[in-house]
Amino acid sequence: MNKVYLALGTNIEPRDVHLSEALNLLEANEAIVIEKRSSIYETAPVGYLDQAEFLNMVIKVQTLLDPLALLDLCQEIENKLGRKREIRFGPRTIDLDILLYNQENIKEDRLMIPHPRMNERAFVLVPLAEIAADEVMPNVDRTVKDCLTELPAEAIETVIKWTNNHTA
Ligand code: ATP
Ligand code: CA
Ligand code: CA
Repeated sequence: MNKVYLALGTNIEPRDVHLSEALNLLEANEAIVIEKRSSIYETAPVGYLDQAEFLNMVIKVQTLLDPLALLDLCQEIENKLGRKREIRFGPRTIDLDILLYNQENIKEDRLMIPHPRMNERAFVLVPLAEIAADEVMPNVDRTVKDCLTELPAEAIETVIKWTNNHTA
């Protein structure tokens, strides 16, 4: 079994439905078991600013899939949920990124693990630290918790626990 962390993000409504559908589709694969899930966070857009706020979360999965097969599955789920690629870093129904795959460092055309931009992203490190604070990032040899403390407080403050108020 391989221990993997995946990041989920969405900023097209219904955002929480897109997260649930992605989790269901992952779990429907017999080679994947979801072991832990972070809280859901609402986060300000980064990179391309003129778009709606995101919901982000991180999950820990055990899987028999190799890294490229897992990437294929993630992209298949993105496509099923209607992901369009129009603007780089732009709005999306669902984005599934592979953050960590065991302690492997992978550099292929289609796949870089650890995810090359995760260290700068509070919307990734805050939920990841919730479920994997002591996990070591093999590319920098530091724990998730340590990487998170390097981020500016202003960035961390834009990542806020989200609760579903629609049914309240
Ligand atoms: P970012 O990668 O900065 O988070 P993005 O998620 O919006 O941006 P996408 O359009 O979803 O980018 O993906 C672009 C390509 O990134 C994918 O086609 C995939 O081949 C590649 N990729 C490289 N490393 C990874 C990874 N660790 N997880 C997911 N995709 C990856
Ligand atoms: Ca992404
Ligand atoms: Ca992606």
